[in-house]
Amino acid sequence: MINFPTTLDGLYINGQWSAGREHLRVINPATEALLTTVNGGDESAVNQAVAAATEAFKGWSKTTGAERAAILRNIANGVRNGREHLMKLQSSNNGKPQFEAGIDVDDVIATFEYYAELAEGLDAKLDSNVPLPSDDFSARLRREPCGVVGLIVPWNFPMVTTAWKLAPALAAGCSVVLEPSEVTPLPELELATIIAESGLPKGVFNLVCGTGLAVGAPLSADPRIAKVSFTGSNAVGVQVMQRAAETVKGVSLELGGKSSLLILEDADLDLAVELACGGGFFNAGQMCSATSRVLVADELADEFLIRLKARAEKIRVADPFDPEVEMGALVNQAQYQRVLGHIDRGLSAGAKLICGGNRPADLPRGYFLQPTIFTEVPLDSALWCEEIFGPVICVRSFASEAEAIALANDSQFGLVASVVTRNAETADRVANALQAGLVWLNAPQVIFPQTAWGGYKQSSIGRELGPWGLAAFQEIKHVIRAL
Ligand code: NAD
Repeated sequence: MINFPTTLDGLYINGQWSAGREHLRVINPATEALLTTVNGGDESAVNQAVAAATEAFKGWSKTTGAERAAILRNIANGVRNGREHLMKLQSSNNGKPQFEAGIDVDDVIATFEYYAELAEGLDAKLDSNVPLPSDDFSARLRREPCGVVGLIVPWNFPMVTTAWKLAPALAAGCSVVLEPSEVTPLPELELATIIAESGLPKGVFNLVCGTGLAVGAPLSADPRIAKVSFTGSNAVGVQVMQRAAETVKGVSLELGGKSSLLILEDADLDLAVELACGGGFFNAGQMCSATSRVLVADELADEFLIRLKARAEKIRVADPFDPEVEMGALVNQAQYQRVLGHIDRGLSAGAKLICGGNRPADLPRGYFLQPTIFTEVPLDSALWCEEIFGPVICVRSFASEAEAIALANDSQFGLVASVVTRNAETADRVANALQAGLVWLNAPQVIFPQTAWGGYKQSSIGRELGPWGLAAFQEIKHVIRAL
């Protein structure tokens, strides 16, 4: 365990650490104990941070891609060297098991290394020739950093959601003001410490811990910010977009999901059970990509449910540092109550509880919940339609491939989907028919920096990761010359 000081500075502005006026109580969700208090900022801290980033942009935007790549690699190495400590911070502050925290840290390293590579590649194609249907003119294309950017991230994957924005923003040559979630500042503060030692010029990266209203809202509205990249809930995403609209700044939004796992009639049932548990219970289900709708072919439904229930009841819910833990705690009391409320409303709507729904008997403290499975969930109920963001799966059977696809697509969201089938042709046909930004075929929810992240409909505006993640922080300039 880590011994935290009573208070921590929550501001890193223009290369200096300082304490702000907002006191953020940081809780260990597995014990409900206070870990520390982070002294975060408000609008005046945002003002200072944006001013520092604006000044730093002048020099940083002129650096070469190779220079930026070297710093991104220093950050990746710093994260690698601090891996164990960062894992402990994640588990202490977020409640996720150590093995999940390790996956997160490795993802952060891979993301910074990937964007280092892309940054290096930018120098050769900074100015590229554009063929024209005329001998009288020539044209070249330049990709330039879009300016000072505001990054706002949630608590469910602290550091990962940050890396997916920060690495491409720095690679592009943007300077940054980051607002981490007030719920999980500890891993983000450590990441900021690593960044502070990476050789990045002062003012290029600024961190302002604080509440959404005190920090995220003024950041979204600041006219000096060229773009806001936000990951979080739809309700807040709409507010960010509204504030950004006042000064016509660009927005990238990564929002909620209500995704499906489709188990087709020829599926390997053991694999289907593993994927259902992974998609529903990883990170205690607090994933925008949770496959909380499990759709299973009629022929397999009874046997699948028996096996799924048996597996879910065996999942070891425990302290995140327990070596045998499979599922940790939910992040805080508010989230815990929200998920319990969804379970209650589901029961009132007539859904049938197959297992779970309560606190595990051996865990009297902490925000722990049993893996929970429902069937017979009404299609118009909140349980079926809304994002639960907890370890709750709804299972429903289907009679045909067309019905399964229609059920999966019948949502305001369209983030991801998973398909289990032994037939490669069927897998591709179904994947092509699903309205989702990422479809996994017989695969767990693996994510690579090379493939895009984001979804259809109300799940996203834009894409993160891959070259698309970099393009999101670039402006396109064409220069046309008379010959
Ligand atoms: P949230 O929307 O409550 O908060 C996200 C961030 O926004 C926090 O840093 C918060 O401080 C800030 N914020 C709050 N109010 C604000 C305001 N008025 N203006 C500007 N910023 C404000 O989300 P959360 O509860 O932290 O995270 C859970 C949500 O995030 C879920 O809906 C989940 O689906 C979504 N999420 C999406 C993805 C994705 O890639 N699509 C990934 C992770 C999480």
